[in-house]
This record gives sequence, C-alpha cells and structure tokens, in this order.
Amino acid sequence: MKVVYLDNNATTQCSPAVVEAMLPYFAEQYGNASSMHAFGGGNRKAIDEARKQVAALLNAQYADEIIFTSCATESDDTAVFSAVRSFPKKKHIITSAVEHPAIMAPYQYLEAQGYRVDFIGVDELGRFDMARFKSVIDEDTALVSVMWANSETGTVFPIAEIAKIAHEHGALMHTDAVQAVGKIPVDVQAAGVDMLSLSGHKFHGPKGVGALYLKRGTRFMPFMMGGHQEKHRRAGTENVPLIVGLGKAAELAQTRLSDGTNARIAVLRDKLEQGILAAIPDVKVNGDPEHRVPNTTNVSFGYIEGESILMYLNDFGICASSGSACTSGSLEPSHVLRAMGVPFQFAHGSIRFSLSDQTTEADIDLVLKELPPIIERLRKISPFSRLAA
Ligand code: PLP
Repeated sequence: MKVVYLDNNATTQCSPAVVEAMLPYFAEQYGNASSMHAFGGGNRKAIDEARKQVAALLNAQYADEIIFTSCATESDDTAVFSAVRSFPKKKHIITSAVEHPAIMAPYQYLEAQGYRVDFIGVDELGRFDMARFKSVIDEDTALVSVMWANSETGTVFPIAEIAKIAHEHGALMHTDAVQAVGKIPVDVQAAGVDMLSLSGHKFHGPKGVGALYLKRGTRFMPFMMGGHQEKHRRAGTENVPLIVGLGKAAELAQTRLSDGTNARIAVLRDKLEQGILAAIPDVKVNGDPEHRVPNTTNVSFGYIEGESILMYLNDFGICASSGSACTSGSLEPSHVLRAMGVPFQFAHGSIRFSLSDQTTEADIDLVLKELPPIIERLRKISPFSRLAA
C-alpha cells in the first residue's frame, strides 16, 4: 500500500541529496575533524561549509554563531540553562503556554527550583497574549523563550516584537524555531533574537543533529562540557556526516523558500482544509489563519477521538497525528489546544495534517475521499455524539 505521509511536523524524509552528501563521511572520510593529520583534520572544511550553509539559511551575520548540537531538545535546554546560569541574580523567566516539551520541561524544572515563571497564554486562535507579556516582564527577567511557529497548529508568533520588548528589559531572547525553519523565512538579524534552536530532521535533514544560533557577544555557559569542540561551546567529537547533512538540508531549504515550493504546499493544505470543512459537519480549524506556516492544518472533529480517526486513516496508508508526536501516547487533549480554550468534545478529536513538498494532489484527494465516511462511522458509535444529539 502506498503511504500518504502527512505527518511532516513529526519528522520529514531525509532528502536523497542529503543522504548522498553524508555518505562519504561514514566509511571513507571517517577521520576525527580535530586531528592534526590531514585525513581527519581535512573534515574541518566540510564542517565549516555546513556552518556557512546553516548561517545563510538564518541570515546570521557570522558563521561561527552556529553551534552544532545533537537535536533541538539539546539546543533548547542549552539556551535555557545558559541564560539562567549567565545571569545568576535574575530569578524570573518567561515562555508561552504552548511550547514543545523541550522548553516546557526545563522551565518547569526551574520553577520547582524557585524561579518565578510566567507561561504566557494565547487566545482562541492561538495568538500570543502580548498585553500579558508586557505586564509581567521586568528587570529581573533573565530569559524570554517563545517559539517561532507552533508544532501543532502552525501558528506563527511575532518574534521580532517579543524580542524588542525582552531587550528593553535587559532579558535574553531565545526562540525555538524548529517548526518555522525551512517553511517561512527565518532571519535572526531582522528578528533580533540572541539564540535560536533548529532540528535537521524537521526540514529533510537527518535525525540526531540540530543547531543553536548564538549571537556573537551573547553571554553563554555550555551545557555539554569536555573537549574544545565548537569553540568550547559544545563538547563532543563532531558528528561529521550528520553535520554535513544538516548543511545540505539547509541549502535545499533555502531554495524551496524562494522557488515557489512552499506556496504550492499551502495550496494543497488549503484544498485539504476547505474540502474537510465542506464535507463534514461539526468541524473546527485550530490556529491563526492569517499567521500560519504553509504546511500545517489542525482540525477538530467534534464528539469523537483523534486516536480512532488515526487508526482508521492508517488502514488506508494515511499518516497524520493527533497532537505532537512526542506527547501522543497520552490520552489527555493537547496542552496547546487546552491553552486555546478548545472545548473538550472538540479538543479530543483533533488531527494535525502536516504536508511537505512531496505531498501530491492525489494524496489530498485520497484523504478527502476516505475521511468523511470514517468520521460518520465513528460518530455513530460515539457516546459523546449521542449526548450531543
Ligand atoms: N521543538 C519543537 C517545536 C518541536 O516540534 C520539536 C520536535 O517535535 C522539538 C523541539 C524537538 O526536536 P528534536 O526531536 O530535534 O529534539
């Protein structure tokens, strides 16, 4: 059966061109990039090239503002703990209520350690509560960390505006841009952020590699201590093949941003969304329709459970998600939808469809053919539907 893969916010296919770029560095050019001999040390050039490719995608001013990490979770944790350790007298940190667990968990840990923590809420469209943010930030705030685009709804936050306010109060600004990079222009200079996290496998790079952008001059404490790699900012032997793959993925992502690919993805996403709304009653689209990444739609089907919908879709080879892949497995409705105030009977039946440049019109047509009868069948047997009737 053909797989119709609409779960690209969970992970993407590693592009064949990326795999090709990485291959020589596993078994042929396998030397340690920190070695004195040319066989290993020669790999330093490949790392430098990848650093330039990632810096170009983010419009970073200097390539050495890019630190390679093992994943975005590591980049996020590094940013949070670096900020609080660099400003030990400050005891207040701010984030949003809809972050990925990679930010939520370190913030909750710091709260338990005695930090004052504000999780800024969102409105029913998932928009950041700027008024609340302005009212809680003060000179004691060490860090503001707010995601660029939401993993579940695709809603894009006004990062430049948030960063400006953070800086006016002397706080550092970090953004988790995992779901924005490669989908919309991400310009660290225009946004004015001090730190930014990204992950290779979310934009057709390999899994197990990420990066932290660290603006030159920003106070920093490393999370991984040990060797001198990455200018003492992230110890551990450089993973040359994965770093090369991340660089190639960044180069390809930059092309897709300018050649109309992302606009084509948005057309397919909109066709899917409109088709669902036209064919199925009691459906609600979650997220800010005006500020959204082009590949994501999050749809709530009232009175049924998302997990059941996913199981039926799976029978047709259709892969989607009922929330963030990292948190599915729990039957609690997503914290993002709860923060948006989506009613219980809708939040439970939410499905995220996330497209990529490999998504075809035939994929969307298949979903639009198979989904309405699935929803009808599930509603017939749902106790919630009977209560609502
Ligand atoms: N941040 C966001 C917004 C994400 O969507 C994810 C993955 O789903 C992560 C962080 C974690 O990324 P990684 O798997 O590279 O650690």
